[in-house]
Amino acid sequence: MNIENLLKYQKLDEELFKVEQKLVNSPYRKKANELASIAKKAQAKSTELENEAEKLISDIADLKEKFKINKTKADEMLESNLEGMDSEDIEKLNGLKGKIVSNLNILEKMLQKSAENINHILSEFNKTKKLYDEARSQFAVCKQKIDEETKTLEPEKEKFRKELLVLEKDVEPELMAEYKKKRNDNIFPVIVPLEGNNFCGRCRMELPKVAISRIKEKGVITCEHCKRFIYQK
Ligand SMILES: [Zn+2]
Repeated sequence: MNIENLLKYQKLDEELFKVEQKLVNSPYRKKANELASIAKKAQAKSTELENEAEKLISDIADLKEKFKINKTKADEMLESNLEGMDSEDIEKLNGLKGKIVSNLNILEKMLQKSAENINHILSEFNKTKKLYDEARSQFAVCKQKIDEETKTLEPEKEKFRKELLVLEKDVEPELMAEYKKKRNDNIFPVIVPLEGNNFCGRCRMELPKVAISRIKEKGVITCEHCKRFIYQK
């Protein structure tokens, strides 16, 4: 198996890889990822706040209903005729009146608290929306920068791709196909030399004796740990 041609191919492929890495490691890309994550979190928070508000609004409706019932009772009592009532009845009535007044007070406080909570949710919602909008607009700026970078580097990449196509013809098709598969899995370098007598030149995993003899036989073996091709210099 002719390893030399594949090594030659990889040497040029490394130039393409470097350009690709420039794009992958672009600070704009990193920033864009961060912003996307912020926007996503803000969106989740908005949904959470919406649910909270919905529950609160339903709670307020309940409280209002209870308030109405107690208020009606209180009004009825005010209109009730005390004439003909004995002192025991009047005492009962007064006791009930006290309870209703206390209920009304409690309900009023709860309603007030709910109104405060609604205001708090609303302010949180506005804050979250602002955060989301800012993240989105900054993301758009980053995206534009990334597109510009990609566009600028594309001719360079294209040049390497064309040159690689020429070199590719001198590599055994099966080996080339395997190489490309690994390369697509973001493995680079794809082919590395044996280190010492029995170590993978990349991940330093110790190779079994049988693997070493297979290198001699086949030209390359695949490291079981880092999946790279290993050849002997
Ligand atoms: Zn390895």
